[in-house]
Amino acid sequence: SERILIANVLVSPAHYIGGQRVSSKKTFTVISPIDESVLGEVAAGGEKEVDEAVSAALKAYPEWAALGPKGRGVYLRRFADIVESRVEELAAVETASNGSLLESGRLRVMKRAAYNIRFFAEWAETLKGKSWESNGTQYSVLYQPSGVSALITPWNAPLMLTTWKVGPALAAGNTVVVKPPEWAPFTCSLLADCAEEAGLPAGVLNIVQGIGEEAGAALTQHSGISRISFTGSVETGRIIGKVAADRIVPASMELGGKSPLVVFADSDFEAAVKTALGQYDNAGQVCLAGTRILVEESIADKFLDAMKEGAKKIVLGDPRNIETDVGPLITREHFMRVQGFVERAKKQGATVAYGGKVSEKLGGLYFEPTLFVDIPEHAEILKEEVFGPVLTFQTFRTEEEAIEMANNTEYGLAATVFTGSAERAQRVRSAIIGGTVWINTFFARDLSAPFGGSKKSGIGREGGDFSFDFFCNIQTVAYKAG
Ligand code: ADP
Repeated sequence: SERILIANVLVSPAHYIGGQRVSSKKTFTVISPIDESVLGEVAAGGEKEVDEAVSAALKAYPEWAALGPKGRGVYLRRFADIVESRVEELAAVETASNGSLLESGRLRVMKRAAYNIRFFAEWAETLKGKSWESNGTQYSVLYQPSGVSALITPWNAPLMLTTWKVGPALAAGNTVVVKPPEWAPFTCSLLADCAEEAGLPAGVLNIVQGIGEEAGAALTQHSGISRISFTGSVETGRIIGKVAADRIVPASMELGGKSPLVVFADSDFEAAVKTALGQYDNAGQVCLAGTRILVEESIADKFLDAMKEGAKKIVLGDPRNIETDVGPLITREHFMRVQGFVERAKKQGATVAYGGKVSEKLGGLYFEPTLFVDIPEHAEILKEEVFGPVLTFQTFRTEEEAIEMANNTEYGLAATVFTGSAERAQRVRSAIIGGTVWINTFFARDLSAPFGGSKKSGIGREGGDFSFDFFCNIQTVAYKAG
């Protein structure tokens, strides 16, 4: 089928099923956030394409599973190498699709995508179940492949988050069907090219493009899948959870956040300010973002002034330019959503310290980094995830108050704490409910560490052994010589 040119890269707008490019009569239009131009028409799959993809994955499964971790590792290392060799193309296409910074893509994010594959291939090779004897019986715990995994990913970091699931699922011996995000579907299509070039057997990795409610829903409902790994919104997570419950299929959910960034007066001031301003990265379209800035009262004025000064220096602009710090929001629809949050916050009595509107200079989907202060306690902006460059600023007097405010949310994805006191760090850490707590650092993520959310931020953990606990069928064997 024909390819389309995106950022000077030829990309297939078709599905990838059983090693073949397959198109659909129905398509959807993908728009670039950079200038709201049309990037292309992409195949919109439904039940039929999902059924073909799951069938191809089921067909490829026995041989892939039988290869064992070492056999699969040969393919997956090659796969990772090819992704790595195409970092420049992948970064350019990702930037055109979702407006994330080209430079970060080139230098970090796309390399990390390759590493996601390599890391889990290697981890699988050293993964050891347990073995022991009890009452004259030999027990062992084995990690077995579990069949076909359905992988559903969002648009804010499509290739990074897709490989974060593809890597361990394939390494575990499963075959996969990926439903990429419809707002940024192109790098996942390129991932299929990489898989093909690496010689992955047909059907091991399949891509069904399409709309969430159609292709995504059909995939989660298919009787041939045995795992669902999802990253996205709470609303969609709830829908997928119900489908998974009906069919008793394990579902891992990495959902939203409204994470606190807690700054005590005894912390490294500059580092804390820098981290606070860093929450505007990717235009705030980051589930892990620490969007609720909580600062100890004694340094609050100084901190706010430093944030105001720092915000002036943030360069909002075309994500392809090297000097740009913050790019556009992903789509007009999402822009309206973010703007709606900002307008309601103003109506509910919150004060704009800076930003609060579209860039006068750039227009389009370029929303200014925004900070709210003097926010009424009941305001929506303190509770709901905005997923945009919008932060709230609140102050606290005591450690207890800081903890209470940090936990005053339905979410529990992450928390960041800045303090010079190791004892305080320990106390606050243990009181905060969150899947990840960063202390005097932010965003550090080692792939062997479990990642996931507490409360409404999700169910399950992935990373290191945890990925295999999820993707594998864990079998206990009790053996007695016959
Ligand atoms: P976000 O917009 O925050 O990324 P979504 O939850 O809307 O969150 O989207 C995440 C992924 O889930 C996308 O790939 C989307 O197509 C998919 N999706 C949306 N609705 C459904 C659904 N009902 N069933 C399965 N997947 C869905």
